[in-house]
Amino acid sequence: MTSVIERLSGGSPVFSVEFFPPRDTADEAVLWRAIRELEALDPAFVSITYGAGGSTRDRTVRTTARVVQETTLVPMAHLTAIDHSVAELRNVIGWYAAVGVRNILAVRGDPPGDPDGEWVAHPEGLTYAEELVRLCRELGDFCVGVAAFPYGHPRSRDLDQDTEHLVRKLRAGADFAIAQLFLDPDDFLRLRDRVAATGCETVLLPGLMPLTTPRTLAKSVELSGAPVPPSVARRLEPLVDDPAAFRAAGVDLVTEMGERLLAEGVPGLHFYTFNRSKATREVVGRLGLVPARVPS
Ligand code: FAD
Repeated sequence: MTSVIERLSGGSPVFSVEFFPPRDTADEAVLWRAIRELEALDPAFVSITYGAGGSTRDRTVRTTARVVQETTLVPMAHLTAIDHSVAELRNVIGWYAAVGVRNILAVRGDPPGDPDGEWVAHPEGLTYAEELVRLCRELGDFCVGVAAFPYGHPRSRDLDQDTEHLVRKLRAGADFAIAQLFLDPDDFLRLRDRVAATGCETVLLPGLMPLTTPRTLAKSVELSGAPVPPSVARRLEPLVDDPAAFRAAGVDLVTEMGERLLAEGVPGLHFYTFNRSKATREVVGRLGLVPARVPS
């Protein structure tokens, strides 16, 4: 199976998508509709998040296996260190390998319930994503990605320390990093410059979320950890009571962000889809990131 880094190194820009594991049968139908609709557009890879509890973790594993078995897509399974002993992590990684998953996004995870709560490592577990990268590397020929934060991870002291820790993860054996959400492309480009200034050569993928509703805007702001840039607020906030106009302006805005990032030479755009495909399809279609002939 092709690796994510191979798909990102083809010379032409690509797009990729993130899904989360479905909670129930209705969710599963929604997810699989999105997967099938996006499969036709040949994304470079699809990533599936890893939850905090046992049942959501089983669903990640099952969904990833189904993607391997039933689609033409390249899957990337997320894995977190939270509440896992090293022995359990070895089991999950071994299981991923057994079903044919070659790509893992190694992230530390947040404390369940309160992401800002105290981080407590499992007594027989790992403390930082860097160690999880090493574990994945030790256990197989995986292509490994890590998380990056344009505004710095909330637990980092400052941007210099944040960059230092990101570079440590990359040097521990990660092939690429995917950025958390941001609403100003310059903030992503500054992150890329900070990493480049350390002499670390890596592939850094921007993460984008189609801004279709005021709720998705609020979610983007929450996840990014930065306030809404004035240029975005001026365009979207007057439209909060007009769903169609908000959606149109939000899709325009994300398309423009994509254009700017592609002009700056990013190898691809990673979309946080929330298991819906329509707006992502619109944006990647407008950006010319889809095959010339899409099967009907
Ligand atoms: P780390 O790299 O371990 O960093 C955590 C903190 O520790 C940072 O402040 C860092 O500066 C500091 N640090 C790192 N290394 C060291 C060191 N050696 N010494 C001292 N301090 C250090 N969460 C999920 O639960 N499931 C998912 O599927 C998931 N997917 C994600 C996908 C992406 C693209 C992103 C951006 C985030 C995702 N997250 C996910 C969220 C992520 O788990 C949290 O943001 C978590 O708080 C940080 O994870 P990390 O891998 O960056 O941690």
